[in-house]
Amino acid sequence: MPPANKKKQGKVCRDCHRVVDGESCVVCGTSNLSEDWSGYLVIIDPENSEVAKRMNIKLPGRYALKVR
Ligand SMILES: [Zn+2]
Repeated sequence: MPPANKKKQGKVCRDCHRVVDGESCVVCGTSNLSEDWSGYLVIIDPENSEVAKRMNIKLPGRYALKVR
């Protein structure tokens, strides 16, 4: 039984932290995904985003801050 306070919110790529809709990451092509993540992050302009630079994000999209 999953914890009751946890909403199912999709999977996140463990390599680039991108929120993935399918079964593999569109950026890395990996299926190394995690359902245990927190901190929703939307990157619109990676070139001008300090967070994106720190996390090594090069494509706009939805990401997770923390992936376990
Ligand atoms: Zn990825």
